[in-house]
Amino acid sequence: MIIGCGIAGATTALRLARNPGRQITVVTRARDAQESSTRYAQGGIVGRGADDNSEMLLADIIAAGAGLSSPHAARILAEEGPLLLHEVLEETARITFDQDTKGQPLFTREAAHSRRRILHVGDATGNAIMKGLIAALHRCPNITIESHTTAVDLITFPHHSRDPLDNYQAITCHGAYLFDRNERTVHRCLAAATVLATGGLGRIYRNTTNPAGARGDGIAMANRAGARIANAEYIQFHPTALAVPGAEGFLISEAVRGEGGILITPDGRPFMSEYSPVWKDLAPRDVVARAIHHEMERNSYSYVLLDIASRMSAVAISERFPNIYNQCLNVGVDITSDPIPVVPAAHYFCGGVLVDEWGLSSIENLYAVGEISCTGVHGANRLASTSLLEGLVWGNRAGQHIERSLDQRTRSRTGFENVPPWDESGLVADADPALIQGDMQTIQNIMWHYVGLVRSAERLSRAIRELRHLWNEIETFYRTTKLDDGLIGLRNAVEVALIVAQAALHNRQSRGCHYRQDSVTAEGDRLI
Ligand SMILES: Cc1cc2nc3c(=O)[nH]c(=O)nc-3n(C[C@H](O)[C@H](O)[C@H](O)COP(=O)(O)OP(=O)(O)OC[C@H]3O[C@@H](n4cnc5c(N)ncnc54)[C@H](O)[C@@H]3O)c2cc1C
Repeated sequence: MIIGCGIAGATTALRLARNPGRQITVVTRARDAQESSTRYAQGGIVGRGADDNSEMLLADIIAAGAGLSSPHAARILAEEGPLLLHEVLEETARITFDQDTKGQPLFTREAAHSRRRILHVGDATGNAIMKGLIAALHRCPNITIESHTTAVDLITFPHHSRDPLDNYQAITCHGAYLFDRNERTVHRCLAAATVLATGGLGRIYRNTTNPAGARGDGIAMANRAGARIANAEYIQFHPTALAVPGAEGFLISEAVRGEGGILITPDGRPFMSEYSPVWKDLAPRDVVARAIHHEMERNSYSYVLLDIASRMSAVAISERFPNIYNQCLNVGVDITSDPIPVVPAAHYFCGGVLVDEWGLSSIENLYAVGEISCTGVHGANRLASTSLLEGLVWGNRAGQHIERSLDQRTRSRTGFENVPPWDESGLVADADPALIQGDMQTIQNIMWHYVGLVRSAERLSRAIRELRHLWNEIETFYRTTKLDDGLIGLRNAVEVALIVAQAALHNRQSRGCHYRQDSVTAEGDRLI
């Protein structure tokens, strides 16, 4: 069973489906299987540029990771990624990336990349990827997609076992409890291997580029089951989300700066060279995001501006960025003539469920792939456009590992008789949407103000106190109310918010995208 249907989950499914003897169930809480963070990716995916090689990509990943990237994991990504991109995305999912008139790939450049190596489909790369991947899943007769189905909790032994002697065994995953959003019932889904591919947690922040489903469900489930979570303090904030009412959080891709766009204050002053004399507007995301935050705080601006209009012709802008152009035009900003109002927003979770080089977590039979996982690639900060590639590489690797381990497995599978059914007896009250929305907004505000771009012991301690209180309230709410997707998400959101806040409090050293104003920075990082 694969929980999540973005690039990572879909890639695992496609890999496993090569063996016609396997039955693969892909679960997604969304009604439309394409709905995921993957769908909204704009900038593109790392390929192998014309004057590029895996050593150069590796060096860029390691530099962006601020000393915390695992060299082994980063090398796997740099070496396997571009090949898999061709095999899975171009061949299996039949995606055509943008090309020039001679049929050569059109590579763009993004922040902290030393080469032009990003492949894209206009500025709606994720949309093309999801269309291609879902179509490929549908072509496989041994894959079943269960959409509009929310995973509630993992089935792990000894936790859910009816046999007390299982207490002496290592924690093992046997599947998950799934909430059918149409029927409003919970069923057990037992699986020989379970893969978490539920994406990130941006939605626990007030300002985020992430879609509604990115509320940390899989991380909370894995945490409750006892899996190791690592690097949870490293939340990457994207510097440029649209700051126009009605389209808050809509991402203005880094590729806009890659094509020459520059950040200016509302009174027209370019400012990035003050913060990063070498990289300027293409400095790593954490540097750019904090620079904007600093300018906004120091000068009481409610946004800064991103100017592409004076750097590219109107025709070139609307051809290169049709999606951004149209979305902005819908809310009254013509990016071919006006600068774009932008603010930073929570964008990517660099930490996650700790996994090995095959995507295996610290729990037997439980894998995690994609943004939910911590493979070590991103360290303290993710290099732009490597997350789609990581989903592809570890999605594929998890599939390979499961295939091998199922072949070798001798232990018999757990049957339903060993796993208790979901018990909802006595629960009659429907979840009050006002409580769910109110509590969710409280979590988002706490995270934005106290666990955001600039952190301190005082802010983090306050966040933890308030989140603990909320956790108690929400747990009671959860235990006394009929199940609902919003309630499942709220329970998970408060749990992952606490995980992030606690990790941020424990780590006093500023590094990459974790910035403590009450601490020294890691050597080499500029304090802003
Ligand atoms: C606006 C935006 C732009 C981006 N641009 C880029 C880019 O240009 N290049 C790049 O490399 N990265 C980019 N990223 C990051 C990248 O898109 C994500 O990191 C990546 O797509 C994550 O893929 P995934 O498969 O791990 O998860 P997702 O694509 O988020 O998929 C998660 C899946 O899990 C399902 N799910 C969640 N919870 C549950 C549950 N409880 N039960 C059942 N199903 C569940 C969801 O429905 C979904 O199917 C961008 C992200 C955003 C938000």
